[in-house]
Amino acid sequence: MMVVVRFSSQGRPVWGADGKKLLPAGDRLPQRLADGHPQPVTSRQARAILATLVFFWGIFSWQIYGQQVPKADPAVWKVGLGRVDITPTEPIWLAGYAARNKPSEGVLAPLFAKALLLEDFEGNRGLILTLDLIGFRENVTEELTRLIHERLGLKREQVLICFSHTHTGPVVSLGPVSGYTIDDPNRAVIEAYTRELIVKIADAAQAAAANLWPASIRWGTGVCSFAMNRREFTDRGVRIGVNPRGYVDRSVPVLRVMAEDGTTGAILFGYACHNTTLTGQHYQISGDYAGFAQMELEEVLPGLQAMFVTGCAGDVNPYPRGEVEHARQHGASLAAAVREVLNGDMQPVRGPLKVAYERIDLPLQKFDQEQLQAMAKGPDYVAGNARRMLELLQKGEVLPTSFAAPFAVWQFGADLTLVALPAEVVSDYAILLDSALGHLRLWIAAYCNEMFGYIPSAKVLAEGGYECRGVYIGPGFFAPETEEVIAAKVRDLAAKLGREVPTSWHR
Ligand SMILES: [Zn+2]
Repeated sequence: MMVVVRFSSQGRPVWGADGKKLLPAGDRLPQRLADGHPQPVTSRQARAILATLVFFWGIFSWQIYGQQVPKADPAVWKVGLGRVDITPTEPIWLAGYAARNKPSEGVLAPLFAKALLLEDFEGNRGLILTLDLIGFRENVTEELTRLIHERLGLKREQVLICFSHTHTGPVVSLGPVSGYTIDDPNRAVIEAYTRELIVKIADAAQAAAANLWPASIRWGTGVCSFAMNRREFTDRGVRIGVNPRGYVDRSVPVLRVMAEDGTTGAILFGYACHNTTLTGQHYQISGDYAGFAQMELEEVLPGLQAMFVTGCAGDVNPYPRGEVEHARQHGASLAAAVREVLNGDMQPVRGPLKVAYERIDLPLQKFDQEQLQAMAKGPDYVAGNARRMLELLQKGEVLPTSFAAPFAVWQFGADLTLVALPAEVVSDYAILLDSALGHLRLWIAAYCNEMFGYIPSAKVLAEGGYECRGVYIGPGFFAPETEEVIAAKVRDLAAKLGREVPTSWHR
């Protein structure tokens, strides 16, 4: 008998592996099977036909799947890169320090938005955007991810936005700007910049998706030492200063994307330190140490795209700080730490890529009117929030009991878990999540997706200080239980994506 096998454009036979759809309609068949009016077939003949078909199926499937079509390899990725200069072209209010009283004066170093699109061996996609910007509120992130979805079809959980949190970059906002004393013309500049920015970033993402090339990924961790815990204990409480005995996460996680010829196409690297070498006295635009580190890596390794991801840096400042030269030095030492990792043993990162994104209700502290009135007379970072809460009470409204914040986890096969915390998370979370998730194959990033305030640990809340200020875009101070809520949820998300999490953990 004659068996006709038709091949699809991918070189696979079009019959099903379940044996039920052995031959598609329309193919040439032995007449008695194909004409719709089969002649009587004895059970012995039927068994013989079936055995023959099974025999040929075995031969073909061995030839096709065993030899001609290689099995999809979890170590093989497709990646695409995009980048766009987002340096403001006219004077614009700079973000991060409320005391500034005029817009920017010139450019010390350009700002960039960079895109890395990853596609695993199963076709799962994820887009990482790193931005030399202080951060986005929810409405800006929503506008950007909506546009990216429209253009690339990527769902919200497939897009990860990482802010370098530079304090010498523009204020970014759609709508009202709070926290700065800005007049209407300057507000209009910010709005126009932000609208253009969103389109530019989506363009960079689209450029990344337009040109995918085969790649392998590796990762490793180095160390860099200019991060300094900034919670200085004084006779008048905790102030922002220098605390050499305080904890900082000095690790430098590095993800390296290599083309088939072995050249490095992109690196994603992290550090858990506020991008605040430059202070409120500085009016020139730059990406601070993170910008200088990226520039240096791209200079010494031509053709490479270097992308920065901030860690749990809420209570961590660069040391020393205050001068442009310090920012350059820190950038150089971070770049050197990254290069050290690139020169060492790096571990393979394989697929599949699984991503999770979820809003979690973080608990807020409860205060009565009397307590809030006392707080409204306290330091600025407490007083402003307390006044917002008092205003709500005066309007007869109920104070919120929680704040919904977006958390993301990306799981790369069994090789790496990337935890993407939102907003300004203090360094204690690096220790907490290390324990909750297990120490190995773990990257803890913060300042991702949305910026809305400081997320303190229970320890920081008990000690007091600036990092206790809570939500700065609305009312509310985070409660001590916040850390347990976050650790439990992130653990849960990571476990669901396939990470093996420890059975017991501690704070
Ligand atoms: Zn900050």
